[in-house]
Amino acid sequence: MRVTAEEIADGLRRLGLDKTSTVIVHSSLSSFGYVDGGAEAVCQALTSVCGTLLLPGGSWDLTGIPAPPGIARPNNAYEPAACWAEFDKKLSQATSFRMDLPVDRWLGVIPETFRRTRSPLRTAHPLFSYQAIGPDAERLLAAQRLDWPLGPIEALDGDVLLIGVDHTSNTTIHLAEQLLGMSRFYRYAKGPDNTWMELPNISGESHRFDAIEPALRSVTKEVHIGRSRVRRIPKDAVLAATTRLVLDNPAALLCTDNPECRCAAALNQRLAFV
Ligand SMILES: [Zn+2]
Repeated sequence: MRVTAEEIADGLRRLGLDKTSTVIVHSSLSSFGYVDGGAEAVCQALTSVCGTLLLPGGSWDLTGIPAPPGIARPNNAYEPAACWAEFDKKLSQATSFRMDLPVDRWLGVIPETFRRTRSPLRTAHPLFSYQAIGPDAERLLAAQRLDWPLGPIEALDGDVLLIGVDHTSNTTIHLAEQLLGMSRFYRYAKGPDNTWMELPNISGESHRFDAIEPALRSVTKEVHIGRSRVRRIPKDAVLAATTRLVLDNPAALLCTDNPECRCAAALNQRLAFV
């Protein structure tokens, strides 16, 4: 299976996307099979078809650090460093956020290629930066604060685009949880000049998020491009479905069989709110 930028663009148009569209993109390059031109071809297709594109731009792998010793945050599912010497060592090994840091590899190769080749605007959140281009880019990115990392998704008036990934990559589900006051974790990053920062409202675990799929099937548009299953879902429908599922059952979209998983801490947070 071999696909070109033009075939990817055709597929996006079959989803009804055009220059009036605003989408948050979660993506897997390998999902297509072989793409002529690789991730750059996918970026080209996205920018040639869509209006405003929002992509993750996080740099956790370089900027993230353990919690400082002794800090007490209930239901936070994050081990503090054993001692200050260990914490200081991790802090010295980490990198302060800069606009030219690469995007984390676990977000897929497309966001990093987008950053390098499209010169998007980018936010300065030390762990979970976002990047965007298009007419609404500036407004979306302005909605991110250090204490509200998912602001750009909240501000987005449009759709979630899942390119060869499932709902475990769908960060809008986390936004719905957070708007309910749930799955709000604290994480830590290296700040400027060897300082450390505590950052609130970091998302929880998502490995069970694909259980939302039946609730969204009726509003999902879907095409296949090469081997990739590409889906377009209205953002507001994701928020509504998540809210309904979680209010019906606090354990919805979480695993309940592993006390070590961040899901257990998220469940405790949810139970405190319902
Ligand atoms: Zn879990």
